[in-house]
Formats: sequence, structure tokens, C-alpha cells
Amino acid sequence: MNKKLVNEGFNNLIKQNEDEGSIIFPVNTLLPAGSKEREEASVDLCTTISHCRVAMTIKLPIRLFTFEISLQLRAKKKQQSFLTKEEVIEIGKSLQLDDESDIDDALRYLHNVTIILYYPAVLPNIIFVDPEPILDVLSRLIAIRYVNHKDRNLIANPPPSPDETRDFIKYGLFKEDLLEIIGKQRIFNKNFESSHMIDLLKHLNIIAEVENKGEREKTHLRVITDVKNKEKKNDYFFPCALPSYNKLNPASKEVRPLLIAWKICNRGTTTLAIPQGLFPLTIVHLLEKRDIVDFCPVGKEYYRYHDAMSLCVYEKYYIDIINCYTHIEIRFDDCKASCPEICELVTEAIKRSSKDLNVDDHHIFAFKCPSKNEQCYCIAKEDKSSARCIQCRPKCDVLKGDDDSYSCWFKNRLSDPGAAEVASLAGPVQPTESL
Ligand SMILES: [Zn+2]
Ligand SMILES: [Zn+2]
Repeated sequence: MNKKLVNEGFNNLIKQNEDEGSIIFPVNTLLPAGSKEREEASVDLCTTISHCRVAMTIKLPIRLFTFEISLQLRAKKKQQSFLTKEEVIEIGKSLQLDDESDIDDALRYLHNVTIILYYPAVLPNIIFVDPEPILDVLSRLIAIRYVNHKDRNLIANPPPSPDETRDFIKYGLFKEDLLEIIGKQRIFNKNFESSHMIDLLKHLNIIAEVENKGEREKTHLRVITDVKNKEKKNDYFFPCALPSYNKLNPASKEVRPLLIAWKICNRGTTTLAIPQGLFPLTIVHLLEKRDIVDFCPVGKEYYRYHDAMSLCVYEKYYIDIINCYTHIEIRFDDCKASCPEICELVTEAIKRSSKDLNVDDHHIFAFKCPSKNEQCYCIAKEDKSSARCIQCRPKCDVLKGDDDSYSCWFKNRLSDPGAAEVASLAGPVQPTESL
């Protein structure tokens, strides 16, 4: 198993694994709430966790340790989960951290070892000693989709209007006003406002800002990347708020869906996995390329779910990106010749998302194996000219032969400049004597 992945804490991304000492535990989240099965499953989960004895060791210079404790104490005294930069500077002075740059270094260090949260690029004045306020706003926001209308006032008072609720639940869109109302209840104050939260969520690529062209034109939205454009009327797209898909249309046979995943090898068995949280980040990163990527019209033919999204690319093609939890699947069959371009576009977004998640970007490309073996995937080799089945014994031939429904993702035979170069290297064709 990829040790780095485990070290990063992405422990629930991998197949069922009953090896002793494993921190991987499969959970069926679809068991109905309140049912006996769910209760049994939670007891099972709790027992397993309590037997895990997972611990983390962080090396901390003693001066930073005292600094950290002082931050916690001050926040506790204030009954708040964050401090302002001013307060932190004051605490620093009492510990001989006189220079502002020393304090900044100390804060960055504590952030990197995940003791505090500090985002100087967007919120230079707020230091979270506890992630609670951020998680609180997010969980309340998500809760809007799960509670009945009559109970929504418990989350936001006044509750969102039927239009706002529909925009949120169906399209994943909300306005800053909604966040402001949610946070009014003991979360936001003059030092931590809804606009700060919006800046933070944008910085973390959890939401994308969307230009609102007229109230009811939700079918045509554009993502805004210009930070200076602070129109409070704008919508924010929050993919995690969307429902999950229940049925997918059959995939094309002309262009086989491309799978992107991480390869996990363990005792001779190969499985696929992706880091948790990769999918929504990738969607937001793609939408940020606003000259190239846009929302799809709303309709039955397109997906707009938290685990399946259709996107319009280059103003003419549609791609479907599906979160299969062990891999990400890309479907595109508008134009075979554009497959390599689409592959590159999505790969770039995946690279950025991996960076956000602090995961090494060692993704691989794969396909669903054409054999009858449902569990088998064909993993493309590095040169992308051949593949290897993870389970079948016969040689894998998906990238070989005349069938280009797989290989079309990797090479563009007609417009490949490399191919033209190879042709010219062969030299001009000699005229035959008979002419
Ligand atoms: Zn194969
Ligand atoms: Zn196979």
C-alpha cells in the first residue's frame, strides 16, 4: 500500500481490508437511520476504532508549545474559537516572540502541523485555534437540504425562501446572505464575518463564485475567477450540497470512459482508490477555467449531482465526470479527436486537487476491463501504448489493434504534431524512375 497515502490520513479511501492493525474500515452509510442494522453498524465501528490506538506524534519546539497553549487559553477565556492577529501579537510579545515575522513563522508552523488553522493569503487577521466555526457553518449549510421546511428556521432564521431553497438543493447555488443568516447564531461577529467565510471557502476551492445573469437564468451561469469582483448578489456553487445520482445513462462504446485513480498494490493484489474529497475539488478547479469550462444546461440529459457532473467545455462539447469512489470516470463522446485535450484538461484539475489535499500526484489512467470479470481494470502503462489487466490472465489488448475506442484518449493521430514530425524525418518521397 502507498505509505504516503496512509500517512496523509486518507484512510477511508481504500477497499475493504481486514489486515490486522489496519485503519481501514468499510462503513455502509446507506443503512436507514434509526434502524437496528445501523445501530449494530455504529457499535461495530466504535468498537473497531477504540481498538485501533491511532496516535499522532508532532515535534514542537518548546517555545511554540507555550505559544500554542497561550493561544488556546486566550480563546477559551474569550469563549471563541478564533483570535485576531492583534491578540496573537500581544500573546507573542509576552513570550519574546517580538518580531511580527517570528509570529508569522510560528503560526505557519502550527498550521502545517494542523494544530491551528491560519490562512494568511485570504484571512491574515484571523487565527482559528479550533476548526469548529468553519465546520459549523458548513454543516449547517449542508443540513438545509436534509431538514423539512418547517424546521429550517432552526438552522437559518429567517429560513431561506422556497426559491433560495430550490436553487440550493437542485443547483447547488447559494448567496452570501444565506451564510450570513446561518452564522448569525453564535458563529460570526465583527472579526469573523460571512464574507471572510466566503473568501476562505473560495481559497480552499470548496465553492466557486458564479456570475448571476438575471434571476431565473440558472441554466446559464459563469464562474468568476476575478477576486476583485465582489458583487454581493453573486451566487456560489457548492457541489457538496447537491444530491447524489441514482442512475447513470449507459456509457458510450465509441469512446470508452477513461478512469483516473491511484494504484494501490498490496501483497500482489492491485486495487484502485482516490483520495477522499478529490471529486468536488476537481469540479471546482475545472469550473474555475471559465474560458474553457462552463455549467451544462439543466435537464435530464445532464448530471448535476455531488458525485456526477456534466460540464460544457470549449463551448461546444459536453463531458460527464463521475465519482465512482475508487476512481473518477470521464465520459466524452462528442468528438473522438478532442479526447486527448479533454484528458489533459481533467488531469490538470486532478493535479491541482491532489496538491490541495497534500497527496502525491501519482494517478494512473485505466479502463473498465472488457472481459466478463467485473472486478478487473486495465491500467495504462506509462507510455500509454499498452495496458495491463489487474486480474485477467490473458494479455491485455485494449490499447492495441485497430480499435481506438480506448487509445483515442491518448493520441491524436490526425493532428498529432509528433506524427507529422516522424513523417518528415523519413525524408521526402523519392520519385520513381518511371515518372
Ligand atoms: Zn485489460
Ligand atoms: Zn481484465
